[in-house]
Amino acid sequence: MLSSIAGKTVLVTGGSKGIGRGIARVFGAQGAKVMIAARDEKAAKQTVEEIQKRGATAAYHLADVAHWDSVLELAKATENVFGGIDILCANAGIFPQKKITDLTEQDWDNVLATNLKSTFLCTKACIPYFEKAGKGRVIVTSSITGPVTGYPGWSHYGASKAGQLGFLKTAAMELARYNTTINAVMPGNILTEGLESLGETYMARMASAIPLKRLGTVEDIANAALFFASDEAGYITGQQIIVDGGQTLPESLDAITEI
Ligand code: NAP
Repeated sequence: MLSSIAGKTVLVTGGSKGIGRGIARVFGAQGAKVMIAARDEKAAKQTVEEIQKRGATAAYHLADVAHWDSVLELAKATENVFGGIDILCANAGIFPQKKITDLTEQDWDNVLATNLKSTFLCTKACIPYFEKAGKGRVIVTSSITGPVTGYPGWSHYGASKAGQLGFLKTAAMELARYNTTINAVMPGNILTEGLESLGETYMARMASAIPLKRLGTVEDIANAALFFASDEAGYITGQQIIVDGGQTLPESLDAITEI
């Protein structure tokens, strides 16, 4: 049994949908005060109401994590509502698929700003609150795509996700003086609304390529994030954990059809 995060404030970027919503729900269920950041108000409001209905404490603030002014406002708003920030889940991300031949400079910059620059901006904005609290936690949602695997159309996305891991090695050293750890969760294929819309056949084909024979759930990722947020994980920093049902293990097509 892990120590409780009850009463701690967690800022979840991209907390309105998908994996972020799963993190917000799981942390809320553990008694954390959850601040959700996203751009679209409708989804953010819906998620906050859903969490509140389950008896947890949640609020949202509209922000674009790709811009410093917006991130700074977000951190201030979180302090205003909940009195500080104990845990940052830097999760917001986009994954538009485009092959290199069609990819524009603007596409590249947009993905890198939303996925990678945001990790730096959000971490930086939270440091004063971690310093004030005497400790802190940053949990980054990276991916297997980029650091471990490749997928046509996701060169920019893969670069952003690998970049997050490069960032956290040095960030871990710099954050240590604030008694703050930073670690990353690297999800495999996780069942979110976006994926569900691709249909049963597509999802079944994806699941068949995974040793555990199912797609991941948002809770699978949230539980790994919860571990990094716990006191028990206090001596782990600058590290990453793959949560993919073994998806990256088979060394050939034969290896996966053998099981
Ligand atoms: P999703 O369902 O599309 O949700 C993305 C979230 O990020 C939304 O809340 C979105 O809200 C927010 N967001 C996007 N751009 C933003 C911006 N500029 N500023 C603020 N918020 C922004 O995506 P997901 O599948 O849950 O992915 C979440 C994270 O997991 C991403 O970092 C992704 O790379 C990673 N990941 C996902 C999978 C997977 O299988 N789903 C696998 C590996 C890694 P708004 O649009 O309202 O801003």
